[in-house]
Amino acid sequence: MSRAIVSLNAGSSSIKFALFTLGPDGPEHAAAGKLEGIGTAPHLVARDADGAVLIDRNWESGAGLTHEALLRELFDWATQHLPGHEIIAIGHRVVHGGLAFARPLLVDDALLAALDALSPLAPLHQPHNLEAIRAIRALAPALPQVACFDTAFHHGRTETATRFALPRALHDKGIRRYGFHGLSYEYIARTLREIDPELARGRVIVAHLGNGASLCAMHDGKSVDTTMGFTALDGLMMGTRCGDIDPGVILHLQTQLGMSVTEVETLLYQQSGLLGVSGVSSDMRALHQSPDPHAGEAIDLFTWRAAREAGALVSSLGGVDGIVFAAGIGENDPVIRASICERLAWTGLTVDRDFNARNAPVISQADSRIIARIIPTDEERMIAFHTLGVLPATGGGQ
Ligand code: AMP
Repeated sequence: MSRAIVSLNAGSSSIKFALFTLGPDGPEHAAAGKLEGIGTAPHLVARDADGAVLIDRNWESGAGLTHEALLRELFDWATQHLPGHEIIAIGHRVVHGGLAFARPLLVDDALLAALDALSPLAPLHQPHNLEAIRAIRALAPALPQVACFDTAFHHGRTETATRFALPRALHDKGIRRYGFHGLSYEYIARTLREIDPELARGRVIVAHLGNGASLCAMHDGKSVDTTMGFTALDGLMMGTRCGDIDPGVILHLQTQLGMSVTEVETLLYQQSGLLGVSGVSSDMRALHQSPDPHAGEAIDLFTWRAAREAGALVSSLGGVDGIVFAAGIGENDPVIRASICERLAWTGLTVDRDFNARNAPVISQADSRIIARIIPTDEERMIAFHTLGVLPATGGGQ
């Protein structure tokens, strides 16, 4: 029987999960999957470490199945079909740790109540993260669960980097720049320390470019500044989110165009970004293939905005020694990386065409003044590291 940890990332309509067995060198990836279409047409796919499909199941007329009901199905399936694995803990991605929680924590009643109180700060994510924790508590009350916060990595930033230019009383009420994608950035900082310790000690901009996208300025592996702020809407242009926007636009939409709060929320989170500008798709691959000139315009705006925000982070860092690309677009899209790097040529960055085309680990030229790397991110593995670290009896750590 091998001991295992499950990492869970529960969103509004999907639950991503990964199973790690505890090997001598730490967590080893054993299986991963995704339950999508919660609330509409649930679909579960899981694969083992070699990519072989373990389950591919649709729930016909499953629109009424709740997160809890589907987690129960997942739990039952895992118990029956993953024999030989003793699940010793579950680690969860929890989007908001607020001001109080700067490290992963074992879940208990008091923590759950405190995290509930943070739900208004992340109403689209936090309630689903907590619902999954509660559902598993009901299914397996004795199973330890660990909350890993997406905000935690950004805790050490200066007060200045967390402040909006709003009245102090609002800052004191928690209206401040928290930053997100922390589990991804922490994984990258950790990996960079292993593969390039000299660069890890320096000033690095990490570009997490996926459907959600942000940048993080790190010095010596610690977050100094980041593009997301109070919510995951801020900063870069994303798949369907607008990123940084003049707040006057929001006022105008409501007072002059008569849009309701819900309509504005839907517009900013689901209808903007690459999808809104292109009118074609939120998916970068689809935009590259589209003959529609608006698709090209959306791509151009995406890289212009990313380079512009990176320039701001160079200022926050007082210079830059390297840039790291991660996530779906960052890891796989040479065209986007080349365009962002070209726009950052003023930093002394030059990219090797061939390395970039091959998604090589280092894509900068040998004589480039700054190093450009690709590091595949792995938030699930970071959750597993954290979960192990919180369970001293396992002998694991970070
Ligand atoms: P993520 O949210 O990290 O899964 O990233 C999703 C984004 O990555 C989408 O815009 C995809 O089009 C993009 N993406 C994933 N794989 C590739 C690829 N091989 N080439 C270009 N873009 C990709």
